[in-house]
Amino acid sequence: MTLRIGIIGCGGIGQEHARRLHFKLAGAQVVAINDINLAAATQFSEMSGIQARVLDSHQAVIDAPDVDALVVASWGPAHEEQVLACIKAGKPVFCEKPLAVTAEGARRIVDAEVQAGKKLVQVGFMRRYDAGYRALKATLDAGTVGDALLVHAAHRNPAVPEMYVGDMSITDTFIHEIDVFRWLLNDDYVSVQVIEGRKTRNAHAGLHDPITVLLETRQGIRIDTEIYVACRFGYDIQCHVVGETGVASLPEPMSVPLRSNARQGSGILMDWKLRFIDSYDVELQDWIEATVRGEVNGPDAWDGYVASVTAEACIEARKTKQILPIALPERPAFYARQG
Ligand code: NAP
Repeated sequence: MTLRIGIIGCGGIGQEHARRLHFKLAGAQVVAINDINLAAATQFSEMSGIQARVLDSHQAVIDAPDVDALVVASWGPAHEEQVLACIKAGKPVFCEKPLAVTAEGARRIVDAEVQAGKKLVQVGFMRRYDAGYRALKATLDAGTVGDALLVHAAHRNPAVPEMYVGDMSITDTFIHEIDVFRWLLNDDYVSVQVIEGRKTRNAHAGLHDPITVLLETRQGIRIDTEIYVACRFGYDIQCHVVGETGVASLPEPMSVPLRSNARQGSGILMDWKLRFIDSYDVELQDWIEATVRGEVNGPDAWDGYVASVTAEACIEARKTKQILPIALPERPAFYARQG
């Protein structure tokens, strides 16, 4: 069966996902598109060769009888309304992160899905599909280093634009770590502290950079993450899990080791888009196949909600300079944990 897909939001990642689904992956075809900028959507549909119908509202795409499933890749504040409309129509939806821009909004999606009685929503936390994180999780799950005790992590970016300000280092950057550590450790968070130390002279006026986020999990695992988005030297993702009998680390991206010019070393990526490029393919192929089976196999609405609650707690902890609890309601049985 070919899954017929409607795309809502045709900017950077919406276009990439549309091309990926239509031309690269198996079992999917993009049949309808909407963007708030209809002219840009029309141009994309024609220039890309996808030649999908451009419809004048997200609702028209959701309601189109030949659309089996939706991809929401509009800007964050529009996600809640669009995902709720997909649930109302009973259609599966892959929503780019964030599921909603507030925890309250994400909770409304969880409640609507539970009420509808069928899992329909997947959230675009693609790190769970990265080969390196998967290998690290397999190592931890096999007990190779014993129980996890500590995680030391870093999310470094060479530079960010002037529009990246304030808490975006949490809502746009650290949000990926928030999701992937829960999945990696099969755990949830209970408290957070955010520390602003010495600011780099390379950060612009609207941004305090770097910051350190300290999370504590239910099992007592302590996770420290450096978020440093004006580091200049590269897009560098680090994750080292200290267990009872060893340390398991996220593999570095493949790079040719060099001995040259009296130096030994290997390259570091500069562009975040390249770091997890393969994981988007694996993620969406998995989504296509699960959707055809009538299942949601990846990060679900509950995961999107927990990420929002945690991000809000991080922001509050940063503002108050306090160690704050992260209060999560019990996970509904509807969202029984998957591996
Ligand atoms: P973008 O380039 O700004 O694209 C968003 C597109 O949605 C724009 O074309 C925008 O039109 C359109 N749009 C805005 N409101 C809309 C509405 N109500 N209905 C339909 N279309 C609407 O942003 P992006 O980088 O593609 O990011 C899109 C989403 O994906 C964001 O939530 C972002 O956080 C997420 N994202 C995830 C990853 C990941 O690694 N998982 C990576 C990148 C982005 P205008 O430009 O005219 O406003």
